[in-house]
Amino acid sequence: MDEFINAKISPDSLITLFSQAPVALSLLMGENFVIESANQHILQLWGKPSSVIGMPLIEGLPEIRDQEFLSILKEVYTTGVPFRGNKVLCYLERHSRMEACYFDFIYSPVYDDKGKVNGVSVVATEVTSQVLSEMKLAESELRFKELLLNADFSTAIYRGEDLVIELANDRMIETWGKDKSVIGMPLEKALPELEGQPFIQLLQNVYKDGKTYAATEDRVDLVVDGKLQTFYYNFTYKPIRNLSGEIYAILNMAVDVTDMVESKERMRKNAEELSLSEAKYKNLSEAMPQIVWTASPEGEFTYFNERMEEYLGLNQHELQPRDVSSFIHSDDLPKILSVWRKASQHKTDFEVEHRAFDKKTGDYFWLLSRGVPDLGLNGEILQWVGSSTDINEFKILQKQKDTFLAIASHELKTPLTSMKIYAQVLEKALKKSGDEKNAAFARKMDEQIVKLTALIGDLLDVTKINSGKLGLNLSHFDFKNLVDEIVEEQQLSSRHKILNYSKPVGTVFADRSRIGQVITNLIGNAIKYSPEADEIIIETEICDNDIQFSVKDFGIGMPSDKADKVFEQYYRVSGDEQHTFPGLGLGLYIASQIVERSSGKIWVNSVLGKGSTFCFSLPKSDA
Ligand code: ADP
Repeated sequence: MDEFINAKISPDSLITLFSQAPVALSLLMGENFVIESANQHILQLWGKPSSVIGMPLIEGLPEIRDQEFLSILKEVYTTGVPFRGNKVLCYLERHSRMEACYFDFIYSPVYDDKGKVNGVSVVATEVTSQVLSEMKLAESELRFKELLLNADFSTAIYRGEDLVIELANDRMIETWGKDKSVIGMPLEKALPELEGQPFIQLLQNVYKDGKTYAATEDRVDLVVDGKLQTFYYNFTYKPIRNLSGEIYAILNMAVDVTDMVESKERMRKNAEELSLSEAKYKNLSEAMPQIVWTASPEGEFTYFNERMEEYLGLNQHELQPRDVSSFIHSDDLPKILSVWRKASQHKTDFEVEHRAFDKKTGDYFWLLSRGVPDLGLNGEILQWVGSSTDINEFKILQKQKDTFLAIASHELKTPLTSMKIYAQVLEKALKKSGDEKNAAFARKMDEQIVKLTALIGDLLDVTKINSGKLGLNLSHFDFKNLVDEIVEEQQLSSRHKILNYSKPVGTVFADRSRIGQVITNLIGNAIKYSPEADEIIIETEICDNDIQFSVKDFGIGMPSDKADKVFEQYYRVSGDEQHTFPGLGLGLYIASQIVERSSGKIWVNSVLGKGSTFCFSLPKSDA
């Protein structure tokens, strides 16, 4: 090459080549690296004028004094070994401004005739803009990775077709139930449980067709905490391309929606169970012989079974507005409303007998309606669930029975009155003739007639009450006087000591004879139901501005759950000893009706085997 140049090329041509070459060239000669020559490109690159030619390098470019170039030049100069610099940072004062620049360059030794190094040639290319853009890219890649690592959702990058896990944030590693050692491993190896699941194939498809894959609420089975568990994710597989548009990695972003999917599933199951149980109860209600219904807390029907149509000729569409008033006898409405309002207030069951209109027959018939409140968590009424039972037959029979009792007891009264007179006359006549023995029989007969008269009186009273014909003769009377009178009278025929602790309490406005009947009944019961005891205690006092009367006995008592029932018609507490006490179960019913119609209250406190205290109260009158 040397020979060729010497023989064929003139030094001028070489100089032209040197100065016009499209790269930056310079010749630095001698130990001081005097700038022997520098073409236009290198002058531009240095940012210096051509006047630097002929100067030692350190004078032409004083800013490189503390940079590594001088020592490299010296190294090349002394060793004769060329040096190749790649993207080397250099600070140059260009156009009066210090600039950071990057260069690719070659320092090659220059030899004299004797083969000794006498200078260094410089070939340089500025790569500053390339380096800066590479740096920017690296920086943005770093920022991107940072972003992914700190993301709120699970993120991973799989590189290459082997899907090597290049990056996975903590969340993703937690999602997988693995540790950081999976980074750098192919996905298939890191998560062997994915075999048989579609994910690897899906990722490979993304690699092939370049389309982002997105899934919602997709199921994935992963080994977490040592056992295979099912999770649900919303996730995407997004291809990442390089500058030339080739896919080199896949970005996986995933959000764990397991809780949401599971709760949705639970809700679906609950709804399914609910509709099943609803269907079950609907079938059950349709199978019932009674009218079965549900109503809103305000009392409007929300459902009723087909019996409604059978009994009342009303179907689901017909009952508009869906309230009870449209088919209930107007006389019974106030009673129903009051019972229902009371139950709403106390959130308790209600039961009421009423008449309802049957569209088919055009007539009213009797129903027994019961309602139970369905209470919410805070004790509020969600709805009423109830039934209405046809009691028309029962009511007809009851009416027949009442009519019969009314007629029978009325018809029995007259002969009994005569029998009583005859018994008394007979007793007197026998006594007069000295026949004491038969006189005693006549007296016993009279006593039995008194009892029979009382029983018939009770029966008559009940028929009067049931037909609403129990009249009250109201007057003002002294209450204690009445009590004293009755106690005195009762004491005559009783072996029990009746202790009367009544205080003067003033007057009441009521039917004196009927209130006397109540007091007599309570004292009579106290004596009857305490055969082993010797005394009963009567008290009369003022309580909360009312007159309160009580009879305490030390007899058989009754279970607490029977305390309210004893005031019902024909109710008798059943128990071992019961059969030994005669009675019809009407006395307390009559007493309660009299007290209630006199604006009073009646109740009992009782302990089984210990005794009872029956009480009633009446409003005190001003007179
Ligand atoms: P009867 O005494 O005729 O059965 P009542 O209506 O007077 O009817 O009483 C109803 C029921 O209440 C009685 O059968 C009895 O079981 C119970 N009872 C009434 N008074 C007492 C009492 N003082 N002690 C215990 N039980 C009583």
